[in-house]
Amino acid sequence: LAEKAWASRDQHATTLDQHRIEVCANLGDTAKAVEAVEAGAEGVGLLRTEFVFMAQSSAPDLAAQTAEYKKVIDALDGRPLVARTLDVGGDKPLPYWPVPKEENPFLGVRGIRLCMQKPELLETQLRALLTAAGKQPIRIMFPMVADWSEWRWAKEMFDRVQAEVQAPDVQLGIMIEVPSAALNAHVFAEEADFFSIGTNDLTQYTLAVDRGNGELSSLSDAMNPAVLRLIKMTVDAAHAKGKWVGVCGEMGSDPKALPILLGLGVDELSVSLKRVPLVKAQVREWSLSRCRELAEQALVAQDAGSVRALVGEAK
Ligand code: PEP
Ligand code: MG
Repeated sequence: LAEKAWASRDQHATTLDQHRIEVCANLGDTAKAVEAVEAGAEGVGLLRTEFVFMAQSSAPDLAAQTAEYKKVIDALDGRPLVARTLDVGGDKPLPYWPVPKEENPFLGVRGIRLCMQKPELLETQLRALLTAAGKQPIRIMFPMVADWSEWRWAKEMFDRVQAEVQAPDVQLGIMIEVPSAALNAHVFAEEADFFSIGTNDLTQYTLAVDRGNGELSSLSDAMNPAVLRLIKMTVDAAHAKGKWVGVCGEMGSDPKALPILLGLGVDELSVSLKRVPLVKAQVREWSLSRCRELAEQALVAQDAGSVRALVGEAK
């Protein structure tokens, strides 16, 4: 399949029954944006902006950030960019930003929580992203949102910056990676333009399994029906309000998970850039109606193993 997949990488990913899924690339480095387009990515579905902040001994200023983001915008040449705002803290501290040591960093001051303690940092980042975008399509999302108050705080800051910069084609979204955000997705969908499901963290927080703990890796499976139910809630809530949903965690490039995600109604997959051609090719092998049947069965399965077996038999 690999050769065939590469040859058809520039074609859309459409199921046998003509349902189109957008396939984008995850990026943690602006230099890779050109490569992502060459691999057939229809956009960048997750720009992990941490690299701009980690590579320095002090916080990058507006000009430095704008220049970095502009490299991605230029490479994408009109394709959409989904940029995630700074997601550090807890176990990933910034050298120039000491935070108190925490007993449970994954449950501590990370992602949007850290930005709330240093608002000027997020404000500069938002200004840089919108300035870099200009008239090009940009989607901005906040990591680790668990509560409405965090979203409101971030959205108000965004509205202020957007009133100044006025980028014409911008959407504001939320990463769904904490169970509370999935459970309250119907509320967030009132205001957010889109959701992107971070299945790595969503799995960690749903199953109470540290994502980096190798000893527990067999438990840490996004195909657990509990995680699938949260994905379904998120998709249903978004679609009820006419909003779109992507998946940007590792699950998006798991061939067994693919039909389940399609069946649950996910609109976009963002995967590591090397996987883009293959994921597109795999989408073309399924029909949406079959995927829906499988997803329905997966939601009432006993465990991740049963869901995997179900997909294995279907192929
Ligand atoms: C995720 O949590 O699934 C995700 C995409 O974000 P990260 O892996 O950067 O935490
Ligand atoms: Mg995450």
